[in-house]
Amino acid sequence: MDESHERRETEAYETDAVVSLSGVTKKYSGGVTALREVDLEIGRSELIAIVGPSGSGKSTLLHIVGTLDGPSSGTVALAGHQVSRLSDRRLSALRAQHVGFVFQAFHLVPGATALANVVEGLRYSGLSHGERRRRAAEALERVGLGDRMEHRPHELSGGQKQRVAIARAVAGEPDVLLADEPTGALDSASGEAVMDLLRELNADGATIAVITHDMELAASLPRQVRLRDGQIVADTRAEAAPHAGTAGAR
Ligand code: ADP
Ligand code: MG
Repeated sequence: MDESHERRETEAYETDAVVSLSGVTKKYSGGVTALREVDLEIGRSELIAIVGPSGSGKSTLLHIVGTLDGPSSGTVALAGHQVSRLSDRRLSALRAQHVGFVFQAFHLVPGATALANVVEGLRYSGLSHGERRRRAAEALERVGLGDRMEHRPHELSGGQKQRVAIARAVAGEPDVLLADEPTGALDSASGEAVMDLLRELNADGATIAVITHDMELAASLPRQVRLRDGQIVADTRAEAAPHAGTAGAR
């Protein structure tokens, strides 16, 4: 690592963390404590795996990082904003501006074209309809679906649906892309293609957190945060990520 890179990383840690969680605990009604005293910083342009067995708190963590849910205690900052200080309206605006979500089951609007799905994702962007269409088309080109814009979800393969979902998530140029088991519903070849796309977006500067129970997939990413019973038990950075060939999921 050269000096300028090192300096930039140090500054990023202090002032430029996209996500900063401190002492985050989440108790659900019914008595489950899903997260315990979690501290986590995600720096700009990181590609990180949040990995752990089923029930370890991964989705809960994603919901809290993405401001879909709040912690029972502890603090959450997103792109420098202390989330707990915001009204619901400001929080929705913050989320729309700063976070992109990708889910295992795609969550596309069934009757709408790929283009319309991505345009819809820009609904709260404040952009004109024409500009939203332009950006949506550009995002679909970027994920390799320039020739599928008028296709509806049932006319697309699983991998293509996930690429539409990724286009929708990145069209607004969020500060962080949160992907919850993005390859979980895909065959291994489509899963690898989706992971390759996430790597490309990261290489272009996107900050991405991939949630997975797949240790092999996690090991192929530059940083792994391991969760167990709601606690971070390891936070490791690979010297050099292994080749992407193992990134498949069932
Ligand atoms: P993971 O994504 O790692 O499988 P989750 O974050 O979904 O884990 O769940 C962590 C724990 O919290 C589990 O024990 C789960 O049963 C519980 N849990 C998740 N969501 C809720 C909820 N809405 N209400 C009550 N308990 C929940
Ligand atoms: Mg989950």
